[in-house]
Amino acid sequence: MNKWPADYEGSWTLAGAISRSGVGLHTGEFCEVRLKPSHKAGFHLSWVNEDAEPLTLNTNQVRDSILCTNLQLGERTLSTVEHLLAALGGSGLTHVEIEVSGEEIPLLDGSSIGWIEAISEAGITPALSPRPLNLTLLEPIVCHRGNSVITATPADEFRLVGAIDFPYGAIGQQIMAISLTPEKFVTEIAPARTFGFLDQVEKLRSDGLIKGASLDNALVCDGDKWVNPPLRFPDEPVRHKLLDLIGDLSLVGFPKAQVMVYRGSHGLHTDFATLLSSLCTDIS
Ligand SMILES: [Zn+2]
Repeated sequence: MNKWPADYEGSWTLAGAISRSGVGLHTGEFCEVRLKPSHKAGFHLSWVNEDAEPLTLNTNQVRDSILCTNLQLGERTLSTVEHLLAALGGSGLTHVEIEVSGEEIPLLDGSSIGWIEAISEAGITPALSPRPLNLTLLEPIVCHRGNSVITATPADEFRLVGAIDFPYGAIGQQIMAISLTPEKFVTEIAPARTFGFLDQVEKLRSDGLIKGASLDNALVCDGDKWVNPPLRFPDEPVRHKLLDLIGDLSLVGFPKAQVMVYRGSHGLHTDFATLLSSLCTDIS
């Protein structure tokens, strides 16, 4: 086979186990993540050195916060899951066991590329059971929070259109349209890093957030310029916004639809994922 699946139709798992570790963006605490093959459809999470049965991840566990996506798993919360989930879903994987040692997924370099390299090292192989869902959208849907909007219209493929509009010269208005495949996710989206604003850093820190942020794991914008260039793409911010959306959709599955997002946020993505899972028909 080619290195990555051709589309999002098949069912795929890892050919071996792999681990990565690092600090979490908000807690600043060290955490290890182990990814393992699974014969059961879906992504299944458990904690290292605990006996409890792995929990199969679903959209009902998602709790959005301002800056990241968290999962409520029984009594425990797991934070900042979106870049890992984007890598798993975006690369075409459908059957994976995830073991974590802490409360927040490591940020690595602020993109999904570290997880893609880990998946690539382990290799991808066909899974033994069908994928969880193939979503088909029957009618257009609209979801908004204020003037932040996501729409989805039925299509033959999973197509994403993202637009952002920031009052900072270094970012400004950016738009990107892409018909997603695992290969395109890996080359066009996964390397795009998260970004923040120099004038908000102090406030976020005083609110107890971004304890693990550094110039090595986030692009920092200072008005008309970047504090830590070079960018990996001229439009890296809008690509990262699509990465976040892909992560937030990976628990519902990717619909055959054109999904357009203007000024997306994790809260909006989560509303959309919940609506989508309730309206789509499972044709698997
Ligand atoms: Zn992100």
